[in-house]
Amino acid sequence: MTTVAFIGLGIMGGPMAGHLVDAGFDVVGFNRTPDKVAALVERGGRGADSIAEAVRDADIVAVMVPDSPDVQDVLAGEDGVFDTARKGTLVIDFSSIRPDVTAALAEQAKAAGLRLLDAPVSGGEAGAKNASLSIMVGGDPADYEAAQEVLQAVGTTIVHVGPSGSGQTVKAANQLIVAGNIQLLAEAITFLEAYGVDMAAALKVLGGGLAGSKVLDQKGEGMLARSFEPGFRIELHHKDMGIVTSAAREAGVVIPLGAVVAQLMASARANGEGGLDHSALLRGVLRLSGRDPDRTDTDDSDTA
Ligand code: NAP
Repeated sequence: MTTVAFIGLGIMGGPMAGHLVDAGFDVVGFNRTPDKVAALVERGGRGADSIAEAVRDADIVAVMVPDSPDVQDVLAGEDGVFDTARKGTLVIDFSSIRPDVTAALAEQAKAAGLRLLDAPVSGGEAGAKNASLSIMVGGDPADYEAAQEVLQAVGTTIVHVGPSGSGQTVKAANQLIVAGNIQLLAEAITFLEAYGVDMAAALKVLGGGLAGSKVLDQKGEGMLARSFEPGFRIELHHKDMGIVTSAAREAGVVIPLGAVVAQLMASARANGEGGLDHSALLRGVLRLSGRDPDRTDTDDSDTA
């Protein structure tokens, strides 16, 4: 039986670790805040009190934490994975972080006798819960092959996109596209509400044409209801917009719309909305349009 240590059992990591249990892996979970381990244990996994304890007997280590410094801590920090895992262990980092940090960590992993894949995911909380994530993998092709069973237990679209860091570069592009999509959907909703349009009908027909998207399918209804329970937190998308704008700048690539959306994401965070779902970009559009973001009634036709 293959033992997988899973570090970071949050919105994404929790359900992903659960799928690995269902797929027959021996899963040992570690979470910084211990209470999140209980759900994994209930599902048939095991809990560990430290990273060292989780990875000690692991064949594969999976990581799903928020940002570059967190992954650096977990992997390269004192008593982290590089210090405590067995030689030859395959480390799969599902977190979305800076491509250059991933590439540097892959070198450190090699020096420690370990193997590191970057495998950031897309598909949101729904994708994690349904094991239908899209996974963009960077690293050595042989390691990619070795990771197949784990990747297939949590995702459906799994693609090796190049050497170490490439997965993170593709993920940065993913976040650029998703943020732009949500922002334009938010603007369209605000526009349509101002004209008193039947919103459910409008989203239905928009969803069937070229304006349709997974963003519209997954986020539209919640936006109409002003329900912004995460999901994917503004705080994390703000992190990702920082990654893509800085990587684009380094490559000499200009992303003007992305830069504007990055600013709007930063504004949402500055307005205290970092803990809301990224579909709360709608609140920013409402504010800019002089409308009350806390109003749930969608009939604004009198102010059009
Ligand atoms: P989350 O719910 O906040 O979970 C993050 C997990 O990481 C928590 O278990 C947290 O522990 C742990 N953690 C945070 N900092 C840590 C540190 N320094 N050392 C050890 N553990 C630490 O976040 P999430 O939504 O699952 O996102 C995780 C990653 O997936 C991010 O990179 C995000 O960009 C990416 N992602 C998220 C989504 C989504 O829809 N949510 C979709 C695709 C990709 P505590 O419980 O102690 O806080």
